[in-house]
Amino acid sequence: MSGRTRARACPERTCVGCRQRAAKKDLLRIVAVEGACVPDHRGTLPGRGAYVHPALVCLDLAVRRRAFTRALRAPGALDTKALRLYVEQATP
Ligand SMILES: [Zn+2]
Repeated sequence: MSGRTRARACPERTCVGCRQRAAKKDLLRIVAVEGACVPDHRGTLPGRGAYVHPALVCLDLAVRRRAFTRALRAPGALDTKALRLYVEQATP
């Protein structure tokens, strides 16, 4: 996606947990690395990304729905333990 095709000042993404649209900067980018969901807080990891609010409610919803597996087109279930730990520490 290039900046030319979307003339918005603030790019939006859909949270895979609650399915609500939010500003990209308010969402956490998730990338699948070797069968695990990895938080990409700098937005620099290559590959497909899924976006989720950095909140446990959204994360748990996404895990229950297997939204990461679908969004990241993973061949099997993805490990979300490390990701959950990250979100737990990021949220007070
Ligand atoms: Zn959400």
